Amino acid sequence: MIANFNYFMPSRILFGAGKLAELGSVALPGRKALIVIGAGGSIRRLGYLDRVVALLAQQNVASVVFDKILPNPVSEHVAEGAALARQAGCDFVVGLGGGSSIDSAKSIAVMAKNPGEYWDYIGGGSGKGRFPAGGALPIVAITTTAGTGTEADPWTVITKTATNEKIGTGWDCTFPVLSIVDPELMLSVPPALTAFQGMDAFFHAVEGYLANIANRASDYFALDAIALVAKWLPVAVADGGNLEARTAMAWANTAAGIVESLSCCISHHSLEHAISAHHPEVPHGAGLTMTSVAYFSKLAEKAPERFPAMARAMGEDVDSLPEAERPAAFIRALRRLIAAVGQADLTPATYGIPSAEAETIARNSIATMGGLYALNPAELTEAEVADIFRACYR
Ligand SMILES: [Zn+2]
Repeated sequence: MIANFNYFMPSRILFGAGKLAELGSVALPGRKALIVIGAGGSIRRLGYLDRVVALLAQQNVASVVFDKILPNPVSEHVAEGAALARQAGCDFVVGLGGGSSIDSAKSIAVMAKNPGEYWDYIGGGSGKGRFPAGGALPIVAITTTAGTGTEADPWTVITKTATNEKIGTGWDCTFPVLSIVDPELMLSVPPALTAFQGMDAFFHAVEGYLANIANRASDYFALDAIALVAKWLPVAVADGGNLEARTAMAWANTAAGIVESLSCCISHHSLEHAISAHHPEVPHGAGLTMTSVAYFSKLAEKAPERFPAMARAMGEDVDSLPEAERPAAFIRALRRLIAAVGQADLTPATYGIPSAEAETIARNSIATMGGLYALNPAELTEAEVADIFRACYR
């Protein structure tokens, strides 16, 4: 029997190669945009910013650029961007780039319409958990990477540097009203970033499939994304100019974003947030990848039921195995995927993180992102999470 669930995914998504051009004709939610981009300079260098500004101008839409966003975006820049949006009279926000720029655009859109500090509206850690009653400026997401799925979900992840808190949050008002997913914009992402971003998308699908709120609708998107990543991410990493691979990964990422809207990530993401809150130089996808074999091996032991279907989606011949051996086929396929994208040797030691931090990281993950632990298919204690972290060094 199909169990009850809610379906809410209000973003208009323009998907496919060349779709950016439609920004010049699609209905836009305002007359003056704050365009939010990263501090690294690649969005300017690749000509994407000029194209977006020109396409908006075709519709007589003015724009102002905020270009300070860091790879692990911080709350100071949310406040600064929101002040600029208010001061310049922007009536919508465009996030252009990877997850950090789009997430920042979402949080800026909220703070442009609400008083106080961003952390007043954060539900975990030292946040005050207030509801942003003022709503948000409309958000347009133009994604140039296949990683966070943020173009198809309400979530935004921001770090408060002073307290080492990296927390995801979101409301109905932080779903983009319009998202453009054009794989031609992803052709120039370098191999290691392609791997980390693609693995992030993969884990959104895997975690959303394992979450205890997974449902019939999220399962379709999750298994499709898992199958596509297993097949196409190694190709996109080896040959970044392969548009077929980039398009498959772009959809896998957006599909996994829809999974995050209909289901949710579980505590694997809490664990990663704790690592990159203490070590902001660790890319999100790297933190997820380095902890994944240990994390999912533990879960496969405790709640094996949903693992065989994921292994099957990844091309494992699950049905020829005795039932007891089927969950482990997923771990085998996961190891194979990690090796195929060139990350077989990745551990926390790669970033100089000592295993002695296991307890600190386990404690932080529960204190800041404890909500996701409640969605795990089986309970994980703080001691077990510390054990998982220590096992990542093998
Ligand atoms: Zn993620």
